[in-house]
Amino acid sequence: MSVQLDEIRHAVARLHTELTRYSLVAWTAGNVSARVPGEDLMVIKPSGVDYDDLTPDAMIVCDLDGVVVSGDLAPSSDTAAHAYVYREMPEVGGVVHTHSTYASAWAARGEAIPCVLTAMADEFGGEIPVGPFALIGNDDIGKGIVSTLRGHRSPAVLMRNHGVFTIGADARAAVKAAVMCEDVARTVHLARTLGPPIPIATTDIDALHDRYRTVYGQRPRP
Ligand SMILES: [Zn+2]
Repeated sequence: MSVQLDEIRHAVARLHTELTRYSLVAWTAGNVSARVPGEDLMVIKPSGVDYDDLTPDAMIVCDLDGVVVSGDLAPSSDTAAHAYVYREMPEVGGVVHTHSTYASAWAARGEAIPCVLTAMADEFGGEIPVGPFALIGNDDIGKGIVSTLRGHRSPAVLMRNHGVFTIGADARAAVKAAVMCEDVARTVHLARTLGPPIPIATTDIDALHDRYRTVYGQRPRP
């Protein structure tokens, strides 16, 4: 096994602990995958395995048609959706799926989460959009994710009546988007129980999003 592939197995296994740490998943629902850079491969969680048992060796390597290349177990039942995203969006290096509570409550009502928090403008660049209703079993979920997120600044989509899919340049970024999506879904829900949230002007959303992408966080000093 290549060193790169081994590192990605470790990273994907470890990132699953973030889903439980942030209470984004119940039982064995939810999954993280990562593209293997330079190869038409992805690493994804096995189906129906307890989170405590998700070791690097338990991770499944698939090609980008979702066919298992290496691994003893069946891959996540969402593998086809992840694979479709990697095929259609070459800039995506990581995909996450959860049924996190508050975000899925918005998905159940088919309502986009409006951009009423600066943290949303930062991370999502606007509202978190809703994707179409789609049954599992073919490429419909993948198509719904791609058609909603392509050309959209949000790395998260609320698939109607289902849950959240997030994308990122790598798997960690996609996990971060899933954590932040649930966080703002909860806060905006609470805000609405108190009264109508106040929208943020588009120009301010643009300024916040731009600053967050270019200035926020640790950067090398010149
Ligand atoms: Zn699901």
